[in-house]
Amino acid sequence: MDLTPDEPTRERVGRARSLGREWVRPLGLEADRMGRPTPPDHPFFAQLVELGLGGTRWTGGPEAGERGPGNARATLCVAEELSYWDRGVAVSFPGPGLGEPPILSLGSDEQRERFLAPFRKRDRPRWGAFAMTEPGAGSDVAGIRTSARREGDDWILDGDKSFAANASRADWIVVWATVDASRGREGHRAFVVERGAPGLGDFKVERKMGLKAYESTSFSLRQCRVPGANLLGGREPAALRAGFEGAMKSFNATRPTIAAMAVGMGRAALDESLAFARTEGLLGDVRVRDRLERIRRRLRVARLLCWRAAWLADHRQPNVLEASMSKALAPGVTFEAAALGMELLGAVGGRGDHLIEKLFRDAKAMDIVEGTGQIQRLLMARKLVGLPRDPS
Ligand SMILES: Cc1cc2nc3c(=O)[nH]c(=O)nc-3n(C[C@H](O)[C@H](O)[C@H](O)COP(=O)(O)OP(=O)(O)OC[C@H]3O[C@@H](n4cnc5c(N)ncnc54)[C@H](O)[C@@H]3O)c2cc1C
Repeated sequence: MDLTPDEPTRERVGRARSLGREWVRPLGLEADRMGRPTPPDHPFFAQLVELGLGGTRWTGGPEAGERGPGNARATLCVAEELSYWDRGVAVSFPGPGLGEPPILSLGSDEQRERFLAPFRKRDRPRWGAFAMTEPGAGSDVAGIRTSARREGDDWILDGDKSFAANASRADWIVVWATVDASRGREGHRAFVVERGAPGLGDFKVERKMGLKAYESTSFSLRQCRVPGANLLGGREPAALRAGFEGAMKSFNATRPTIAAMAVGMGRAALDESLAFARTEGLLGDVRVRDRLERIRRRLRVARLLCWRAAWLADHRQPNVLEASMSKALAPGVTFEAAALGMELLGAVGGRGDHLIEKLFRDAKAMDIVEGTGQIQRLLMARKLVGLPRDPS
């Protein structure tokens, strides 16, 4: 079985490596030192757009929105490499981000054209965002309280969102709201809320222990008026289930990418630990060698799971189990890699200015985002014994 990525993927990974070494790692270290995200007007973002990065998968053609064979795998390989250099900077790259999958899966052609086509232009960096989480609703997405009610042709949204990546710099945010809280997940709908919408405001960049290069932002919607044309998935009852399923589909597409990013960070931690151990003459100790090798082994297993999930997606086969498996496994290995590095570094790590220490802080979030490890394990265990995915 030859698992070598194809030539175009290897070229893309090579370009990511050059960009990573020159820009991504230094910017990540700087953002961490300053304790704030890389600003949206940083010339690096304009340069990325000139290079043709930060675009959309939406092509506008008859197969619009569909990935070609091999694309999911290529996406993982590039995400892993960029995250090797700095995962926070990788997420700050311009592009529609997590907002793209729901527009592709739930949006009409007209909506895809309106919201995604501008990402093909190279005039300026653009961002999109995705806001599901609320101060009172994280893992249990059924608990979202942001409400949506119709008024004439428009919708009025009210509520608070938190931790939405790149939200304050985004041209639009896909906001999940409920049309009827008593219907739990069945009441969910997704709206594209455009920058400047009346009632959209109070943007506040959250403090984070790691991944400081990209903003995770809370904001509020106060009697926020959204045109009817910005509702994704249509108006009437057929759309009720589609709302929730659309969100879950988005995650099946992106969880293996998060896992691949974690693998990249784990590789960085392993390389740093090896370099430190070599310099300090620690590699003569069999216990050190054994623990370092265990990390390499487990990172390879995690990567294979990611690739399997991507292969299934590329071949239009269900990948929900593999997506969860990869997301459940990889962040734990990354954390183990960074923790071993901290152990080897001793007081040098404790000073707080070593890359390993930063990776140790960065790694934690990988277990939290897009469904925590616990939630993935819960879903997989339900599947193993034949229970439905949704306990409600
Ligand atoms: C860096 C970062 C970026 C993020 N980006 C985004 C974004 O762009 N958009 C967005 O909408 N959200 C985003 N989030 C939010 C993220 O999706 C939530 O933090 C996540 O869903 C967990 O929710 P919570 O933090 O409220 O934790 P909770 O759901 O309160 O969970 C707390 C703990 O309890 C555990 N737990 C919860 N329920 C169960 C259960 N039934 N059984 C066993 N254990 C359980 C969890 O695993 C966790 O360990 C981001 C978060 C972070 C940290």
